[in-house]
Amino acid sequence: FSSMYGKVLICDPVDNVMTDKLKDKFEIDYKPKISPQELLEVIKDYDVVVVRSRTKITKDVISNGKKLKIIARAGIGVDNIDTDYAEEKHIKVVYAPGSSTESVVEITLAMMVIGARSLYKGMENTRKNDFTKLKGMELEGKTLGILGFGRIGKAIVDASRTFKMKFIAYDPMPVEYPEYVKKVSLDELLEQSDVISINVTMRKDSPYILNDNELSKLKEGVIIVNTSRARAINGKDMLKYLKNGKISAFVSDVFWNEPAKEDYELEMLKLDNVMITPHLGAQTKEAQKRIAIMTADNIINEW
Ligand code: NAD
Repeated sequence: FSSMYGKVLICDPVDNVMTDKLKDKFEIDYKPKISPQELLEVIKDYDVVVVRSRTKITKDVISNGKKLKIIARAGIGVDNIDTDYAEEKHIKVVYAPGSSTESVVEITLAMMVIGARSLYKGMENTRKNDFTKLKGMELEGKTLGILGFGRIGKAIVDASRTFKMKFIAYDPMPVEYPEYVKKVSLDELLEQSDVISINVTMRKDSPYILNDNELSKLKEGVIIVNTSRARAINGKDMLKYLKNGKISAFVSDVFWNEPAKEDYELEMLKLDNVMITPHLGAQTKEAQKRIAIMTADNIINEW
């Protein structure tokens, strides 16, 4: 009788509502701290594997997953999954598009203001009872360039209209632009933006979008906020522009390695104009619940 049930392995922490929704149809093993080695060994027993961003579903994991039918990403961005190999093996990949938009928009707006007003430095200083005033820049009247005009990029524009900024956006796909957002080329976005918000989707093997050539076109003193994927930018190339101040602030929720391990990353983390959060974009009760519900529904629909 139990063979009627599919077996699900959950590899990262997810909201309880996911197991509640799946438990009638599936036998569930919850191992939110599973190591890559253990995953390679046990994956052969499972029909469905659920991951967030920590666990990587590599080609080797997929090859060992002889019974695997569904790979579920509880979140957005499947760049930790070898989707090409999964497709070759006829394994479905599901995720939860749109489920954390509100949370990511809110953190992005905070990051824009942090970058413009040295809030982080000011808070660090007052901890040491140093009340020195730091001068910043108003966002009103400045140009916000959105790189990647998808769900989150669009919602960031809508939420930041209250700042009375000018909006420009670049996206290589045929997406729709409201009348208050000017569609521009990548070069125009780099040359005109006072603040750039990066909101692109990346695949596992996507090339960097911003290398030295692109970064050299940035406006002097630009603020760059990234709540999408670190790989949108070539970090080694970026370091030079952070050190010489062409980029006045880099506020990012994502990093090339989380935690950092390359020399350029460790050097970057020490700079005053670099402010990094540990991938908190979707880390709210509300988003985690929506993600768990949507991911579970998608698993059930595909089963
Ligand atoms: P989406 O698919 O709706 O939009 C992404 C857009 O990026 C698309 O319109 C696509 O055409 C565009 N794009 C792709 N390559 C591009 C390029 N080279 N130049 C410019 N645009 C490009 O996705 P979304 O829901 O808006 O999510 C955006 C990003 O946010 C994703 O990378 C996702 O992983 C990330 N995200 C991060 C967190 C977090 O915790 N920080 C949470 C949720 C989502």
